[in-house]
Amino acid sequence: DLGTKLFRQTLLLLAGNRAAAAAAQRYGLKLGAGRFVAGLTLSEALTEMAELNRKRIAVTADHLGEGVRESAEASAYAEAYMQLLDGIHDRGLDAGVSLKPTQMGLALDPEAAYAHIRDIVRHAGEHRLFVCIDMENSPFTDATLAIVRKLHTEGLTGVGTVLQAYLRRSMDDCRRLTQERVVLRLVKGAYQEAPSIAYPHKREVDEQFKQLIRHRLDSGVFTAIATHDAAIIDWTCAYAARKGIQRSAYEFQMLYGVASTLQERLAQEGYGVRCYVPYGQSWYPYFVRRLAERPANVWFILKNW
Ligand code: FAD
Repeated sequence: DLGTKLFRQTLLLLAGNRAAAAAAQRYGLKLGAGRFVAGLTLSEALTEMAELNRKRIAVTADHLGEGVRESAEASAYAEAYMQLLDGIHDRGLDAGVSLKPTQMGLALDPEAAYAHIRDIVRHAGEHRLFVCIDMENSPFTDATLAIVRKLHTEGLTGVGTVLQAYLRRSMDDCRRLTQERVVLRLVKGAYQEAPSIAYPHKREVDEQFKQLIRHRLDSGVFTAIATHDAAIIDWTCAYAARKGIQRSAYEFQMLYGVASTLQERLAQEGYGVRCYVPYGQSWYPYFVRRLAERPANVWFILKNW
């Protein structure tokens, strides 16, 4: 309804507000962000990751950060990813990594951002680990897809990206990327976008989400279906069973701290499940987007504060 929509829009505006971020981050994870963020340090995150692996849940780890405004900041984030990759490798974890293009400086210096991402993907390849480039808001869609394509043409194929079902363009992108055999994560989409480019209604987003899933499962190119929507997960399992699609061709992905029981249940039933595990100091925008997805989370956090 209108109230929820306004509340959501306000939260998404707050997610992009630097002053609010600086104020919130002073409180560490005490604001309740600890439900969604695995820790402030790499070693805390690695411990959580091992715990998930014990439950047969794989991980994609995200060193939080986005929208950097200085090149030194981007270099520091790139270095943090090298340490993350080494940490995963040294402990033999079943994990890959996710990163954000604006964290590597895409909005600042696209060529330098590309170089950072290429270094990370190359280092991941040395450890046989996979990198997913998260999809941010629409000003970065084309550039993000171009980065992934360029890496593939350079022979670095251990990298994929994300398509958002709320964007009207996503079916076209999906067809092309599937032909190019790029591994994809499909999501509904977490940012505020104009109705001219994004479906405003849940019903339409869910419909395109299913079309994207169907196209990918039919193609056989590995696909992550990243959602907590039990109806879409059930629909996917039924579709795959009906079409005889191998479980090794897809996996479900969910966020750390969300629908944990469902994650464990699917893993026990033998489905591939991967948990997105974010950690680090820059947790504020990530946390506020999680609140916007489910306004009831705000009350949950206020109650437990
Ligand atoms: P919804 O219809 O929003 O929710 C379905 C049900 O799930 C809700 O009724 C509720 O019970 C539960 N739920 C959903 N969200 C929450 C929450 N925050 N807290 C508690 N319960 C919740 N978006 C991008 O734009 N780019 C990305 O790169 C990206 N990567 C992602 C990676 C993973 C692994 C996941 C799971 C999501 C990612 N997203 C990304 C976010 C995604 O776009 C959605 O905003 C988010 O997943 C919520 O939508 P949903 O599919 O769960 O469905």
